[in-house]
Amino acid sequence: MRCKSRWLWILSWLQSLVVFPLYVWTISPQLQRGRSIAITRGASKPSMRSPLKTSGKSSNTPRGCCVAVVGAGVAGLVCARRLRQAGIQVEVFEASDAVGGRVRTDTVELPGNAKEEGTFLLDRGFQILIEAYPQVKRQLDLKRLGLRSFAPGAFLAFGKGELRMVSDPIRSPKYILRTITSGIASIKDLLILLLLRFKQVFFEGPYTALEECQGTPPPNTESFMLGKLGLSTVLVDRFLRPFFEAIYVTPLAQQSSACFRFVLRMLAEGRTSLPERGMQAVADQLAEDLLVRLCSPIVEVRPTGVRIDAEWKDFDAVVLAVDLPAARAFLPELDQTDEGTRSSTWYFALPSPPPVSEPLIVLNSTLQTGPDEADLPRLVNVAFPSLVQPSYAPKGWDLAAVTVRGPEKLGFGESWVRHELGCLFGIGSLDAWRLLRVYHLDFHQPAQWPRTLQPRVPVASGIYVCGDHCAEPTLDSAMRSGQRAAEAVLEAIFVADLRRV
Ligand SMILES: Cc1cc2nc3c(=O)[nH]c(=O)nc-3n(C[C@H](O)[C@H](O)[C@H](O)COP(=O)(O)OP(=O)(O)OC[C@H]3O[C@@H](n4cnc5c(N)ncnc54)[C@H](O)[C@@H]3O)c2cc1C
Repeated sequence: MRCKSRWLWILSWLQSLVVFPLYVWTISPQLQRGRSIAITRGASKPSMRSPLKTSGKSSNTPRGCCVAVVGAGVAGLVCARRLRQAGIQVEVFEASDAVGGRVRTDTVELPGNAKEEGTFLLDRGFQILIEAYPQVKRQLDLKRLGLRSFAPGAFLAFGKGELRMVSDPIRSPKYILRTITSGIASIKDLLILLLLRFKQVFFEGPYTALEECQGTPPPNTESFMLGKLGLSTVLVDRFLRPFFEAIYVTPLAQQSSACFRFVLRMLAEGRTSLPERGMQAVADQLAEDLLVRLCSPIVEVRPTGVRIDAEWKDFDAVVLAVDLPAARAFLPELDQTDEGTRSSTWYFALPSPPPVSEPLIVLNSTLQTGPDEADLPRLVNVAFPSLVQPSYAPKGWDLAAVTVRGPEKLGFGESWVRHELGCLFGIGSLDAWRLLRVYHLDFHQPAQWPRTLQPRVPVASGIYVCGDHCAEPTLDSAMRSGQRAAEAVLEAIFVADLRRV
């Protein structure tokens, strides 16, 4: 919005000079409608550099301008889409063999079984689509994803098979009795959460919580819940801690309360879902109609181009949309201290039915405390994606996704995971559960300690940067940072053009 009003200000200033009638009237109505800037001036000169020779593409786009986007994760794809909408020629370079980055899905068959017997969909690390994210609503055609949703709430696993259900009494009234009798939330807790929700929905914008902490670092989520909100330790330790530690795979005391408030609002507003073809479908949709060069790792970036193997390609601007570890290798001035969070997802195939019957995530609510708690690997949650989205498992089978927080260490292998699962569900033998695959993620997402978030797109060494490390580590933020990077590139092109006219 801030960017749009700046554009409108520039336009009205230009109009007042009466020297750009054609130019201004061409783009102004589109801006008014909040659409992309498709400037169709025929006599447009190359805006920042001369037309490209080495990209192998003609440069007769409306602006005669070509931008490289390095990385086809959601941030890079959203950035490329925005630039394309504005009539800019874009080439996306992706190191791996498909788009999506951390949003990828593999199709896997049971070991020893023929493909005809059906396949499982394994997202590369268990993840969900929060439909209320503003960017998700803006960038995606959700209808085409064939979404099916989790019920709003969770099963809390207390060990030895004891499962208690909590759910959102407003969005899921049919579970209200089970929630009240779970003994997790007191009346005072429920009132506090209702008031917070009321305030968020009626008095705050979707990004208010994040914007408020741009000047001052917010408190960590644990002290916010217990201190500022005054929630009970039972609710925090048994439900909110495992819930938010499952989302961010980070101890609660190291999480930012701004992110907690933002995600809480999103969860209250919309559904959490899985696409019919897996999370990869989100990235595939974003990549539609884009020129993406797969298996093309970029080895050098400069403001004027990129190097792939020994070949140099000239561009008018370069957007670096890679994950933080990769971005650091190109730009040493980026944050070198953030080691990020680590997790593993263990996928098991099990004969139907699974140990729970409702489409709810199962949180590990057994208390685990101690001085090394933050360093210990911990089984944080178990989900059965096929209960939500049947396409995730073939007929007669279900899929279990077990998320373990923390580094992969010796002694925390398959037998440890099976033992923990057995304790949670009170199942003696898990022999029927067949391990399909494990995803060890050395960099799940940037660490989420309370910090002052960066309000603007960083431009490092003349290169535009986007990705979830530029803001909060969520899908929405990654998309938003891509959008912001594109706006910054467009602004530079626009200003360069103005100087020429
Ligand atoms: C297991 C897991 C679960 C998650 N669950 C959720 C969730 O439920 N909700 C939520 O909001 N967020 C979730 N997230 C976070 C979210 O997925 C990420 O924040 C987001 O996908 C990051 O997107 P990105 O584009 O910034 O980075 P990435 O997805 O990492 O994309 C970067 C891309 O750059 C490419 N690249 C790297 N180096 C080069 C190079 N030299 N040349 C060319 N290409 C290169 C990579 O191959 C990659 O495709 C989850 C993340 C993980 C890992």
